[in-house]
Amino acid sequence: MAWDMDNMDDLQLAAREHLWMHFTRMGNYSKEGGEIPMIVRGEGAWLIDSHGDRKLDCLSTLFCVNIGHGRHEMAEAAAEQMKELEFCTLWSYAHPRAVQLASQLAQLAPGDINRAFFTSGGAEAVESAIKLARAYHYARGDGKRIKIIARELAYHGTTMGALSLTGLPGLKVPFEPSMPGACHVPNTNLYRMPPGMREEGYAQAIEDRILFEGPDSVAAVILEPVQNAGGCFLPPDGYFDRVREICDQYGVLLISDETICAWGRLGEIFGCQRLGYQPDIITTAKGITSSYIPMGVMLASEKLYEPFREAMLPHGFTFGGHPVASAVALKNLQIIEEEGLLENARRREPEMKHALESLRDIPLVGDVRGLGLFWAIELVSDQESKAGFTPEQQEWLLRGFLSEELYKRGIICRADDRGDPVIQLAPPLVFTPEDIGFMKSVLRSTLEDAWQELQKRR
Ligand code: PMP
Repeated sequence: MAWDMDNMDDLQLAAREHLWMHFTRMGNYSKEGGEIPMIVRGEGAWLIDSHGDRKLDCLSTLFCVNIGHGRHEMAEAAAEQMKELEFCTLWSYAHPRAVQLASQLAQLAPGDINRAFFTSGGAEAVESAIKLARAYHYARGDGKRIKIIARELAYHGTTMGALSLTGLPGLKVPFEPSMPGACHVPNTNLYRMPPGMREEGYAQAIEDRILFEGPDSVAAVILEPVQNAGGCFLPPDGYFDRVREICDQYGVLLISDETICAWGRLGEIFGCQRLGYQPDIITTAKGITSSYIPMGVMLASEKLYEPFREAMLPHGFTFGGHPVASAVALKNLQIIEEEGLLENARRREPEMKHALESLRDIPLVGDVRGLGLFWAIELVSDQESKAGFTPEQQEWLLRGFLSEELYKRGIICRADDRGDPVIQLAPPLVFTPEDIGFMKSVLRSTLEDAWQELQKRR
């Protein structure tokens, strides 16, 4: 069928016929009145949809657009690079932009993390970290170390290795068998700490798992600074110090998955800098270019590079370190620095906290937690007992009401129930106090209405 691609009704029909959206129940849009939200433009912290309606992007479009939308300098940096050298691989050749970016990342990264292995996104960065961890031990004659410990509910990507580390059974079951050697320990869900558990128990669980598996079989532990899936799980005091000690004691590497937590999300370039720990590997993507173009990177310490100083690491991707992506990442870093966006994130942090905490009088709000510009509201049916919802209530609340209503009333955020139900908020670093005020008013009216409606449905 011939579509008129300038006509929004035709675009809707064509999307239903031909587009396969990620992590999306396409069936929702085939029903009467089911319209796919279509975003056509962006400016600062705002997105404009196909009806011309402005929506406040309180999620940086999936934790991505840290410097905000519509920055022409980014488009110019890409255009300049395309005119000079549109493409070159990093297989056997180098090119100036990748070298400049690698050097800048080495300066920004903590400790002796000095090597940048570029990828096209987060999952490829995690995949590279899995392979480097195994190859590092193998090169040192320690090839039995193949296991990697991750945390329950954590999301590390959808390629087979990264998926195996992902602690969400619902995402894995159809694709089994997983990569051998992926193990999981509890995440730091302090709001729902099991009876008898103490905060120290979370790091202890990692040591227990290393001992259970056999220390000489464990290659690495992978953790996010603040875990996204489940809703901004913060580490308890001393957690990362203890994890670092445990890793050192058993010769296990520590991978910090900062696909989300880097590039100012927690108020510093890297999340581990905000939380004060030194990983052996950092994996990141998304905000490295503010997602004006896809890019990821695995950053590794000198220690990990050492076995490969003379030998080749047999691993790579055609598009790793793409010149246009590298030029855009350099411009992104320049904007973050020149516009003081890390400082802005730190200034907004207490204001975000205060705004979200003020919603606690709404019976639906069970917990509010986060750091920097990375926050979650956990929803409950009873604040006192922290009780959740029946499956029907939860389906209605998240997919039948909140997702649509929050969008209709003007904000983009994420209602997620991969763990207990949460609303996730991660605005661009250019967020203003007025933006926080608007976000809060929409959250308040929508959550109050959701609670009223839920009472009628009981
Ligand atoms: N790790 C973490 C912590 C993530 O949040 C994500 C994506 N949300 C990934 C890995 C995978 O990144 P990508 O979708 O770019 O492959």
